[in-house]
Amino acid sequence: MGRRSVPNVHLAPIEVARIAPRHPALGVEGEQVKPAMVEQGADTVMAGKDRGHGLPRGLDADGQPQRCMGQGPAVMHGLPGQPDAQRAAIAFDQPANVVDGNVERVMARLFAIETPLPAAKTEIRRRAAGFIDPMSDRHGDWAQALMDLGATVCRPGVPDCEACPLAQGCAARAAGTPGRYPLKVRKAARPHRHGVVWIALREGAVALVRRPDKGLLGGMMALPTSDWRDRPWSLSEMRACAPAKADWHLAGSVEHVFTHFSLTLDVYVGEAEVPGAEWRLASDAGTGLPTVFAKALQRGLA
Ligand code: SF4
Repeated sequence: MGRRSVPNVHLAPIEVARIAPRHPALGVEGEQVKPAMVEQGADTVMAGKDRGHGLPRGLDADGQPQRCMGQGPAVMHGLPGQPDAQRAAIAFDQPANVVDGNVERVMARLFAIETPLPAAKTEIRRRAAGFIDPMSDRHGDWAQALMDLGATVCRPGVPDCEACPLAQGCAARAAGTPGRYPLKVRKAARPHRHGVVWIALREGAVALVRRPDKGLLGGMMALPTSDWRDRPWSLSEMRACAPAKADWHLAGSVEHVFTHFSLTLDVYVGEAEVPGAEWRLASDAGTGLPTVFAKALQRGLA
């Protein structure tokens, strides 16, 4: 079979040095070969350049693609970092549906797809597949062109619609909202909770309690604290559930973020006797405490 050159290879970079030991049939012509591809049936691995991803262009001093020799399609199987569709389309010119993040963006805008990612992937793939012409002999060129379009023209943020060859048929452009696509699922806001923590002092020592074994921070030493709920605690509520009667005064509050919620703790300080507490010198009391309580202690003793 004759050789056919594809100048702008869009495969992820393959370092020939990594490949060669596993594929001894490969030899290198030229230096600094990094991204590589196999021309269909030509037994040639081409070095190339992905402008959109800033890889070296892989051209020699005469502007010719660097190349290394291989054994055609069989060589490419199992190469690292090469999605099958990209390999099939670009290396072997097969009618594969190449959909990377750039193509997703192009399709989402072209058809103004209202389904957010990742659920939109099915529709995006279907839309992209609709462009594959089984009669074409340039599947590789198409795949690269589409990915390049997404990387350089229909780029993230503000696309360059004036330079886009698909502008006439683009639904997002017609709507004037290309930057809106692709839609993404918004993460649920982290709930916020409120609690009270008491710093009970007795002769320079602080009362610590052990938390219940089950639940958040289970079994750890802590300052006495209220439930952590979705609304703030009033003064009367604070007094009602305090670990002891005392002249509690508000020393401030601390914020803390857990994986599933954020928390505001009001910090009350007072001289009090707390039954069953473990008393530690105030200067050492923060050692080993969970961060949220260490923060509260620091605030209360400041
Ligand atoms: S017209 Fe604009 S939004 Fe539509 S595909 Fe082209 S660059 Fe993307």
